[in-house]
Amino acid sequence: HLTGKSAVVTGSSSGIGLAIAREFARAGANVVLNGIEKPDDMEKTRSQIEAEFGVKALYSAANMTDGDEIARLIADAEKAFGAVDILVNNAGIQHVSPIDEFPVEKWNAIIAINLSSAFHGIRAALPGMKKRGWGRIISTASAHAFVASPFKSAYVAAKHGIAGLTKTVALEVAQAGITVNAIAPGYVWTPLVERQIPDTMKARGLTEEQVKKDVLLAAQPTKEFVTPGEVAALALYLTSDAARSITGTTLSIDGGWTAQ
Ligand code: NAD
Repeated sequence: HLTGKSAVVTGSSSGIGLAIAREFARAGANVVLNGIEKPDDMEKTRSQIEAEFGVKALYSAANMTDGDEIARLIADAEKAFGAVDILVNNAGIQHVSPIDEFPVEKWNAIIAINLSSAFHGIRAALPGMKKRGWGRIISTASAHAFVASPFKSAYVAAKHGIAGLTKTVALEVAQAGITVNAIAPGYVWTPLVERQIPDTMKARGLTEEQVKKDVLLAAQPTKEFVTPGEVAALALYLTSDAARSITGTTLSIDGGWTAQ
């Protein structure tokens, strides 16, 4: 249902963002990929999407810590495809540490990439969506938009912030044909989760298996990781006309984590 539409997905060089970009392309959208990635790997991903789904795909290396680069990413996408109909604010990083030892530069980077980048992207993309009277803004929040875990102060603060930003923007554009939502996954097996295992082992004094079973999946009643494809399917649904009345909400897809 996305033929003729264009989507920007930040942080789509791997994990959840890549699954969302591929799902949108499968549904017919032209996509702008983004992320911190080796140019050769990215070119492979980009050309594969074009070949597999018969859409146009571009890659932007815009750094999500930089508001000007984010504004340029949106402007370049509008120039190339004529519009940004769908914006997915997905780029994110994690750092695990007790707050009194939390590196200040990690705090600043997480707030910039996981929260402020959504502000900059929305700010740049909304005028075009308003002009066309149609738009879909989706941010990847987390179960950590609703509940906390120790040692993740910056991440939990940023994801709660995404839930608040989502509500606010939804109210501002409620009559403009634009919906604004967030998706709150539980643990999804991606490089982001894999990378935090060593620090969690150190912070809690556990083995790798204990971290997986007693820390990560302990929170998730299904005892299974959510898959990137499941998150992408929810994102695709939010872009459909059937979802036009869903706005200002953060939807859980977390194996029951936040039901507890
Ligand atoms: P990932 O590490 O596979 O992907 C992160 C993406 O963000 C990559 O494409 C990376 O290049 C990009 N990125 C990081 N820093 C960037 C920067 N400065 N500028 C531009 N791009 C940058 O991780 P993922 O698990 O797919 O995470 C995607 C989103 O999903 C994040 O917002 C994350 O917080 C959220 N999330 C993940 C989980 C999980 O369990 N994996 C759960 C809930 C929410």
